[in-house]
Amino acid sequence: MTTPTVRASSIEEHLEATREARLQSYREFLRIPSISALPAHGPDVRRAAAWLADALRAAGVEHVAVEETAGPHPVVYGDSLRAAGAPTVLIYGHYDVQPVDPLDLWTSPPFEPVIDGDRILARGAADDKGQVHAHVMAAQAILATRDRFPVNVRYVFEGSEESGSEGLDWWLTEHRDRLAADVAIISDTGFFEGNLPAITVSLRGLMYAQIDVVGSTSDLHSGGYGGAVQNPANALATIIAALKGPDGRIRVPGFYDEVVALTEDERASLAALPFDEVAYRDSINLAALVGEAGYSTLERRATRPTLDVNGLWSGFQGEGTKTIIPAHAHAKVSCRLVADQDPRVIFERLRAFVEEIAPPGATVTVRDLGGGRPSLMRTDSPYARAAARALEATFGRVPVFTREGGSIPVAASFQSILGQPVVLLGFTQPHENAHAPNEWMDLRNYEGAIRTIVRTLEEIAQIDPDGVEQPGAGG
Ligand SMILES: [Zn+2]
Repeated sequence: MTTPTVRASSIEEHLEATREARLQSYREFLRIPSISALPAHGPDVRRAAAWLADALRAAGVEHVAVEETAGPHPVVYGDSLRAAGAPTVLIYGHYDVQPVDPLDLWTSPPFEPVIDGDRILARGAADDKGQVHAHVMAAQAILATRDRFPVNVRYVFEGSEESGSEGLDWWLTEHRDRLAADVAIISDTGFFEGNLPAITVSLRGLMYAQIDVVGSTSDLHSGGYGGAVQNPANALATIIAALKGPDGRIRVPGFYDEVVALTEDERASLAALPFDEVAYRDSINLAALVGEAGYSTLERRATRPTLDVNGLWSGFQGEGTKTIIPAHAHAKVSCRLVADQDPRVIFERLRAFVEEIAPPGATVTVRDLGGGRPSLMRTDSPYARAAARALEATFGRVPVFTREGGSIPVAASFQSILGQPVVLLGFTQPHENAHAPNEWMDLRNYEGAIRTIVRTLEEIAQIDPDGVEQPGAGG
């Protein structure tokens, strides 16, 4: 492998000289309201894809194309494969954004970016356009100062992440050979409390179900029928109450069977994180934190599975009184899952248990509303170590390995469909209001992201991909 030719100016000089133009471009990207969940914004999602494809081309990335998936929104692909013998890195981010309501809580219009001190405020500033833009700017800086990347790179930027990644697994499967890489870097996470650089090593998955309890064909008079028939609302309450014990343990048989237990070392490193439990509690105005017995708050929110009712409805909800036995009752129930739980298997176990405990006299059905697999990455992989060194060199602090309570199902897809180890290298600050009004990105994190990405690719160029163990759970 030959060393890339370095042009006169260094990457840092280039980045210094282009800062204003970069912010201008970042703002332009943020102005496109690419809300993937709302069909009315479909054309905007496509406009964002075209904008991004142009930006990749302008940076010098090759084979750039806007490609259809099996879902409504396209993927933006591009690559540069000129580093013979060096590892290939697949870089993932998403250019779609969350809806903006409630709009009246925004201090400025969500698609008119405002820079306030070190913050840029707009929908997508952090999740995930800011991070996607940092990757494009890193590519531009590298190719403006050298004749090629230090590694081979493939960019996969998705347009459906905020609406369930519909059609992406199909696209990944269809193009599996073309997407071959030694590692996937996903930039859709953030730093730890105190803006401490972090690499996320696990993500929770999700199982989502609806429980429907149906009695008579219409509401019944509780005077004429009370005491003689099953009440669907009472029956649903009985079912829900049986799903979880007072110790916070989920009672569905077999629920914990595949859960990978934390090692003592992992528990110790989680306990060592600078997590302020009181501030966490106070930030949501609660008097107490509760959950599964035997685990710390940090363990419960990121390394243990959960079961929560997300919605519950039945019967009379108007003002005053109405003496009825409701005809039906419903609940939306979801579980956050951890490695190696499978959402389909967990759904089947939940369904079997609900059917078993369903009180007589009503029809109980459980429907699968979808979900995503959890994932667990190795902290000892040379790729994670390379990213950690790059973070430390840029931000001057040793990064921590953290576990995320949320879900990025695509991480499991890269592992299972493409067989690639995943490094979750994200740059947002905690409390950046992703998915909420007044989303922001700290411009120091954004600028640091660009430098970290450049350094990570340089670090990975030193790795011999043939000497790396292939992915699997652990670490
Ligand atoms: Zn995201």
